[in-house]
Amino acid sequence: MAQLGNSDRHRSWAEPYKIKMVELVHMTTRAEREAAIRKAGFNTFLLKSKDVYIDLLTDSGTSAMSDRQWAGMMMGDEAYAGSENFYHLEKAVRKYYGYKYVIPTHQGRGAENILSKILIKPGDFIPGNMYFTTTRLHQELAGGTFADIVIDEAHDAENEHPFKGNVDLSKLEALISKVGAKRIPYVCIATAVNMAGGQPISMANMKALRAFTQKHGIPIIHDMTRVAENAYFIQQREKGYRSKSVAEIIKEICSLTDGATMSAKKDALVNIGGILAINNKKLYEKASNLVVVYEGLHTYGGLAGRDMEAMAIGITESVQDDHIRARVGQVEYLGNKMLEAGIPIVKPIGGHGVFLDAKRFLPHLQQSVFPAQTLAAEVYLDSGVRSMERGIVSAGRQKDTGKDNKPELELVRLTIPRRVYTQAHMDVVFESVASVYEDRKKVRGLKMTYEPKYLRFFQARFARI
Ligand SMILES: *Cc1c(COP(=O)(O)O)cnc(C)c1O
Repeated sequence: MAQLGNSDRHRSWAEPYKIKMVELVHMTTRAEREAAIRKAGFNTFLLKSKDVYIDLLTDSGTSAMSDRQWAGMMMGDEAYAGSENFYHLEKAVRKYYGYKYVIPTHQGRGAENILSKILIKPGDFIPGNMYFTTTRLHQELAGGTFADIVIDEAHDAENEHPFKGNVDLSKLEALISKVGAKRIPYVCIATAVNMAGGQPISMANMKALRAFTQKHGIPIIHDMTRVAENAYFIQQREKGYRSKSVAEIIKEICSLTDGATMSAKKDALVNIGGILAINNKKLYEKASNLVVVYEGLHTYGGLAGRDMEAMAIGITESVQDDHIRARVGQVEYLGNKMLEAGIPIVKPIGGHGVFLDAKRFLPHLQQSVFPAQTLAAEVYLDSGVRSMERGIVSAGRQKDTGKDNKPELELVRLTIPRRVYTQAHMDVVFESVASVYEDRKKVRGLKMTYEPKYLRFFQARFARI
């Protein structure tokens, strides 16, 4: 697909595709939603999808596949070993990301599990530009401790730094002096940092980090789940990148790292799948041996042949400028409507969703009564729009003391699935959030009535105070 000429850039972000099949959704009444959210313990993860009108819970595995991807599904080579589709996937990863070896996994956390097991020893520290829920848990289960080295601006919802995913090298330096480079198996760098609100890391920062870590002999592992969105922001915001294609920028980002884990359920436009990619042959051999234990043979890693084919095609589609411009354009459309109405959101608007700042939205609620959890439930009640909490519930408890982590950011994420909803849906989402905002003073908080041990946000239950 040709890149749009610069003269066309001023036009609207309209989608570079048309709709050829639709899925009907259920419309519900307020009384039905009240019953549904109570039954779900005020946790949007526990709602039934049939009770949801516009589903912005996550952009994970919720993309609409293209006609080409569906055609690819029909070409599944369901051989146990050496499926043709695996070689297509390997080719796409090498071509667009540039990593040498690739192992498919059932999804991102499958890759995180294998990577953590081969690289982390008990007592190690893994610095990263903000934590991610599953990433940190696998690091901890392998005996490691996560260390946050993202810049301070990332923890401030109102700060408009264009690259809030950047690493603060002085934080990394301090960690190295404290524990020693030997206890840092790698630095984990996420592109378009999810927990900060889909905020990018700059190429300049990646390069500085690369130079710094090479001095200390520390590799960089790339959580490339949202690399295309990050590359788009570099193209738009960073000096010297305006005339580069998103595909070129992606390849350059990857070239500054030694390997990657990826949930292909996000940028790579598939409903299931992930990869572990690595340049070092010895590490690849270890990983491809371990994947047999947890996922499946190294040429399918828990996926059907057809899933790998859809992923190979999805990777190709995901790096096209027209695609990513419309994807981020839709998110910005929704975010700008919120900003114009004075609704508090994380700024700048991120790549995969609009993040409501529950601290400023519901300033009368203490963090102990779960403002973001409460707000997500209220938006659902108002309109059937499903969002999710990214605040104190998601942050979980401290590994050693068992106390609640108390994150600065208390957010509700309205995550936009790729190629699924229209501009009119975005208008409804905005109208609903605006009406909850109008009545915000009436909103009361929640108490937790059930807390599971791992990743509590998925399954915790709450009741109204
Ligand atoms: C979703 C996600 C993961 C985990 O991937 P799954 O496919 O859900 O297992 C890891 N890192 C980031 C940044 C993610 O957004």
